[in-house]
Amino acid sequence: MDENSNLYKIRHSMAHVLAQAVQEVYPKVKLGFGPPIETGFYYDFDFSEEEFAENKLKEIEKRMKKIIGRKQEFHYSETDIEGAVAKLEDLGEGEYKIENVRNLHSRGVEKFSFYENGNFADLCEGPHVETTGDLPAKAFKLDRVAGAYWLGSEKNKQLTRIYALCFETPEELQSFLERRRIAEQFDHKKLGKELDIFHFDEKVGKGLALWMPNGTIIRDEIEKYAREMEMKYGYQRVSTPHIASEKLFQTSGHLPYYADSMFPPMELNEGDDAENSEKYYLKAMNCPYHHLIYSARPRSYKELPYRLCEYGTCYRYEKSGELSGLLRVRCMTMNDAHVYLTEDQFEEEFRSMVKMYMEFYETFKFSDYSFRLSVRDDSDKFVGDPAVWDQAEALLAKVMDELGLEYFVGEGEAAFYGPKIDVQFKNLMGREETLSTIQVDFQSACKEKFALKYVDSDNTEKEPIIIHRAPLSTHERFISFIMEYYGGAFPAWCAPVQVCILPVQDSCMEFTNSIANELTRDLYRVEIDDSNNTFNKKIRTNTKRKIPILLIIGEQEVADNTVTVRRYGSRDQITVSRDEFVAIFKAEVKERKML
Ligand code: ATP
Ligand code: ZN
Ligand code: ZN
Repeated sequence: MDENSNLYKIRHSMAHVLAQAVQEVYPKVKLGFGPPIETGFYYDFDFSEEEFAENKLKEIEKRMKKIIGRKQEFHYSETDIEGAVAKLEDLGEGEYKIENVRNLHSRGVEKFSFYENGNFADLCEGPHVETTGDLPAKAFKLDRVAGAYWLGSEKNKQLTRIYALCFETPEELQSFLERRRIAEQFDHKKLGKELDIFHFDEKVGKGLALWMPNGTIIRDEIEKYAREMEMKYGYQRVSTPHIASEKLFQTSGHLPYYADSMFPPMELNEGDDAENSEKYYLKAMNCPYHHLIYSARPRSYKELPYRLCEYGTCYRYEKSGELSGLLRVRCMTMNDAHVYLTEDQFEEEFRSMVKMYMEFYETFKFSDYSFRLSVRDDSDKFVGDPAVWDQAEALLAKVMDELGLEYFVGEGEAAFYGPKIDVQFKNLMGREETLSTIQVDFQSACKEKFALKYVDSDNTEKEPIIIHRAPLSTHERFISFIMEYYGGAFPAWCAPVQVCILPVQDSCMEFTNSIANELTRDLYRVEIDDSNNTFNKKIRTNTKRKIPILLIIGEQEVADNTVTVRRYGSRDQITVSRDEFVAIFKAEVKERKML
């Protein structure tokens, strides 16, 4: 946040007003820190002498509004260490502030500034608004309370942190609250639990998801779809081990460049001979293995483009603070592929790859995404000849232009071996996520690395260009994204339960069973709700499970050989003949339609 912006001043000044109001309610409170943050501000308090009651937040908020109404001016003053300590003792704000000025003093700070308004003063560097009257009384809200250790250390006392939301206008506050409400309702961690899709257990470890039966159905369906598309676009499937000798990752250059993102190696000692010991790493990416499949046989230009694909499971030692549900995990299964081709083939292959991406997006009904051309910057993590980089970056830009695809440039976002096109999606809170990627690689085929070759039509050996691509990301990130995007209501083709049949009376059971049998025989996922619940309760429970199609079977349906169809998200019901429903449903699943 820009420290000179009006919003920063507002949040900063508002934090003082919060402390001031808290002091009015709890005169013995001691004050910690109270900085602005991304969505407002917080302040840390030590209430130890007087128990803090969360239901006082409303009263504190009211008092803040009164202080704003009083239009108190903020006055600035400066003093030395003695003056600061004396002033803080005088104010009775407690040992935390005094400890803080002494710490600052020991680090060479000589001047201490205070801002004073009304009968309240706080040690502070500013900047502030002129008077409390400049604060937006209707654009803030005390949000929640949490524990926070003084100076962030568990050895210190735990203080009470009051978080507040604060914006410039009431409209901004309202729109933030609304976005947050939807995001919370559709948060994939919450939905993942409610719909029984995945689970984390500390006994397995951080960032290592367990996929429940429902989640595994979704994975399998997406994987089946990817397989069909890859067959259509000329890819061949391969399978590779989850570990490899360090030699492989040295050859690829992942060691040492990528070592921080890999799990530490295991040392294997065959024959108890230290000299024979060898390090093995968990695979963090599939590429090196695919390159060796390419180089296992001599390749002719006639085989190119040579396309290898694998839903490969990779392990990355992501920082624990960055792990977030399924969005960023340490074990992930990637919709990966590597295409080996000649320079002449690049443009056409890229074009058909983008077409494949669009076909995927169309099926999933994605519309809000943008392309980022991710290029290098001057950091040393990017390996290889700058001229080759320039060539690759220019090639990508040229093809994007020729395809008429709009993109923005992300400096420093390239892979360490080459530039890439990332497809950026916005999540419900407006945060951008990379879902898909296409990367060009002029490095891995070179003689210092995998020495990949093909024999060209003129009988000379040449190096192929490599494209790395992952349109459907990893199952983990992709499914977390669509779970939020669909609010947990998966389309029929990949929903864990596709159809739930609700018989109205016992007399409808025979007809119900016969429809269920007809569909399960053809491997569709069908359930019957034959619980003792009332009919309305059955509708409610199965709607909560977000099952795409409910079939209602009453005596009329039995008599007419019909079914009444109720789709998720719609209150309308239609009654159609049994055969018509079966035909429509089967076509919908086969064509992966989204209604
Ligand atoms: P990021 O920049 O997000 O770390 P990356 O560029 O390292 O990703 P790639 O090696 O290109 O990722 O992996 C292909 C795709 O796998 C990415 O586009 C992303 O969607 C997904 N992915 C990467 N890391 C993770 C992770 N830790 N958890 C889940 N999915 C991931
Ligand atoms: Zn301040
Ligand atoms: Zn790759």
